[in-house]
Amino acid sequence: MALVVQKYGGTSVGSVERIEIVAQHIKETKDKGNNVVAIVSAMAGETDRLIKLAKELSNNPSEREMDLLLSSGERVSSSLVAIKINELGQKAMAMTGRQCGMVTDEVHTKARIKSIDADKIMNYVNDGYVVIIAGFQGISEKTGDVTTLGRGGSDTTAVAVAAALNADVCEIYTDVDGIYTADPRIVKNARKLDRISYSEMMELASLGAKVLQIRSVEFGMKYNVPIMVLSSFTFNKGTLVTKEDENMEKILVSGIAQDKNQARLKINSVKDEPGIASKIFNTIASNNINVDVIVQNVSDDGRTTDISFTVPRDDAEKAYELLRNLAKNIDAGDVTLNKDVAKVSIVGVGMRSHPGVAAKMFDSLANEGINIRAISTSEIKVSCLIDEKYTELAVRTLHDSFNLGNE
Ligand code: ASP
Ligand code: MG
Repeated sequence: MALVVQKYGGTSVGSVERIEIVAQHIKETKDKGNNVVAIVSAMAGETDRLIKLAKELSNNPSEREMDLLLSSGERVSSSLVAIKINELGQKAMAMTGRQCGMVTDEVHTKARIKSIDADKIMNYVNDGYVVIIAGFQGISEKTGDVTTLGRGGSDTTAVAVAAALNADVCEIYTDVDGIYTADPRIVKNARKLDRISYSEMMELASLGAKVLQIRSVEFGMKYNVPIMVLSSFTFNKGTLVTKEDENMEKILVSGIAQDKNQARLKINSVKDEPGIASKIFNTIASNNINVDVIVQNVSDDGRTTDISFTVPRDDAEKAYELLRNLAKNIDAGDVTLNKDVAKVSIVGVGMRSHPGVAAKMFDSLANEGINIRAISTSEIKVSCLIDEKYTELAVRTLHDSFNLGNE
């Protein structure tokens, strides 16, 4: 008997009709002779709605109360799914984070899972229940307060539960039917991938592909949980996120990602001496702003240089302020902010063993007259910062150059 963990996202349980479909699918999976544990997100839009309510009452709502508030969305959906499954004649048990012993650290609104009471869940499973777990939430280890795992956190609940229960597969049901070579809304002949490695999926998730929360992929990789991404609207075969194999390395590039949530800051004429970069990036980091593509130019005169980097666009104004204040303190030149930039990236484990992939990317962009403003790379990724208005063109061009499309 296989143990299948399933996760249903917000749109999959977004209405009574959707919940009926999901309940039916869970029952069918059980009827086929599997044990099933399902994790659900809040009904589509619910988490946003709750955040909005809190923001109407306070500009800075306390994080502890936000967690308690937001965790209610998943309580509602998990209870409703269990109610419907019972109605269909299959025993079902809904559980909150607390009830299934989902213990986290104390960091409200972005807690990390520490342990799960697998025995408690399995006792019900072995009694013939399907267990429906409220995603995205836990309780903190020291205080026992309700915590949440960050936006999109139900993915992480699901993969962590699959790991803890040693499940055969973790199926993530969403509103797209898998991972594509590029965003199908931009590239008409984008192709659905049968398989993708954990490390590629992690890069894609961090590059702006929103299908899976990045932490969930980290968990999958660490505990080797096969993750299947598929649609609860079509139930077609999806994409398997799994260990790397030799065939994956034969392919140069697996996917293209784009991210318009970028802004570029540049600080001119900073002294070329030890400690300056550390001052700049510590200032930004201590304000909880993530820094991405960094470029420091070589100083021609050996005295000053300039440093530029990107931050998420929402944080741009705040980072600009911080940087302007810092510039005065460290005797630097002026600071500029440019919000009309975007990042396009190619990702593939094949890059490790094939030289020339970056050069080919730069060639393709050049052929379209697209200027590259900054570059960053990892072992399996090359990203270029370009003018935002060329994003779609760049994605299509790269998709063509690396022959990623369907014929
Ligand atoms: N409901 C939460 C959110 O909207 C968690 C999730 O859906 O995974 O972010
Ligand atoms: Mg999600």
